[in-house]
Amino acid sequence: MKYYNNILETIGNTPLVKINKLTKDVKALVLAKVETTNPGNSVKDRMAVKMVEDAEERGWIKPGGTIIEGTSGNTGMGLALAAIAKGYKLICVLADKQSKEKMDILRAVGAEVVVCPTAVEPEDPRSYYSVSKRLAAETPNSWYVNQYDNLANRQAHYEQTGPEIWEQTEGKITHFVVGVGTGGTISGVGKFLKEQNPDIKIWGIDTYGSVFKKYHETGIFDENEIYPYITEGIGEDILPKNVDFDIIDKFTKVTDKDAAIYTRRLAREEGIFVGNSAGAAIKGLLQLQEELTEDDVVVVLFHDHGSRYVGKMFNDDWMRERGFLEETKKTALDLIES
Ligand code: PMP
Repeated sequence: MKYYNNILETIGNTPLVKINKLTKDVKALVLAKVETTNPGNSVKDRMAVKMVEDAEERGWIKPGGTIIEGTSGNTGMGLALAAIAKGYKLICVLADKQSKEKMDILRAVGAEVVVCPTAVEPEDPRSYYSVSKRLAAETPNSWYVNQYDNLANRQAHYEQTGPEIWEQTEGKITHFVVGVGTGGTISGVGKFLKEQNPDIKIWGIDTYGSVFKKYHETGIFDENEIYPYITEGIGEDILPKNVDFDIIDKFTKVTDKDAAIYTRRLAREEGIFVGNSAGAAIKGLLQLQEELTEDDVVVVLFHDHGSRYVGKMFNDDWMRERGFLEETKKTALDLIES
């Protein structure tokens, strides 16, 4: 019989899929590492399990303990699966701007969800930073994950995602392109790939409203770069310890509108139903395509599944409200009449 002993064993070995239509003018072969087939539907399952196992080894968490993290999305889902398989409790602390849908998904997989007001300063005792820290201090046998600075995050990608990409491309990869949030994916994969072949280029996708690109180019942490944006999962207003700026060759920034449009195109033209950091990644690659030749093999990583975004960029009204969709709304009647 062929079976897995628990759901965690199904994490990884995600497919590499050729992009055809969106990259038809790109000289290189473009392959997408599609992470949606992980059980939590995102690449974050990999690092969530690694961080829990690392905490167990270090004695930071003991049987029956409680995992605490300030997360709304993919990391929370990965931690929930790890908590179930390994017998821990999970508390996810969220800001109230997060959608009810996200909270419901986390509750569905057994997490306790604590909601904090968004409109308070980080130092305010009601903020989600303060509440997470307080809960961790007050809850016996608890462990605060901190995916930004916990280096087991990037280690997961150094041990798994990087070697998978190297093997799947038979060492022919020349460029790796990926969105950067905590920095775990780009830093872990990038380090592994550069150890195999230092000529491989590592391109980070950033978003307008984030500090990464300017910091990488100038060494200056510029607060003027920080403002609200829509693309989820990438860009930061802090410098997480997981971002290894030295292994990144170049950053490019993609607008919220372009990220949304290319996410829709991936679904409709390639049949790849993924989130908007994937749209940003493919658009970022197109922005840099001048640098590619026929001999290049580019791998672009798609972080998560499109189902979380059906009320957002896959919804025409949502797109129109933000000026992301130019054509006017047509009803079925308009179409019959025209
Ligand atoms: N895209 C999505 C949808 C994510 O959830 C994340 C994680 N924040 C990223 C991209 C960026 O990945 P990383 O944190 O490994 O840099």
